[in-house]
Amino acid sequence: MQFCPKCGSILRPKVVRDKKVMACTCGYVADKSAASNAVTFKKNVDEVKFDVIEKEESAYPIAEAECPKCKNKEAYSWTQQMRAGDEPETHFFKCTKCQHTWRDGR
Ligand SMILES: [Zn+2]
Ligand SMILES: [Zn+2]
Repeated sequence: MQFCPKCGSILRPKVVRDKKVMACTCGYVADKSAASNAVTFKKNVDEVKFDVIEKEESAYPIAEAECPKCKNKEAYSWTQQMRAGDEPETHFFKCTKCQHTWRDGR
């Protein structure tokens, strides 16, 4: 929790020019949210990528893998380069029964 250095009140989140900041009712604005905004943005990017993958459910090979959700033994399997080329590919599975999608835990 953050307090206003001017009047001592609790700062509340406020949006100023599309930017989330901590502000006080007296008019004081603490603009220290840049770091946490960056973390949120990175997380969103990962989620978007994951959504795109889930929509491409056409003709993946079926592999033997146990679905963590419904315990089905077959899942579509594919690999995807997630970030930079020097990182290993991430292995994805999609349950043929319940459509649950998960990453190979590494
Ligand atoms: Zn204040
Ligand atoms: Zn399943």
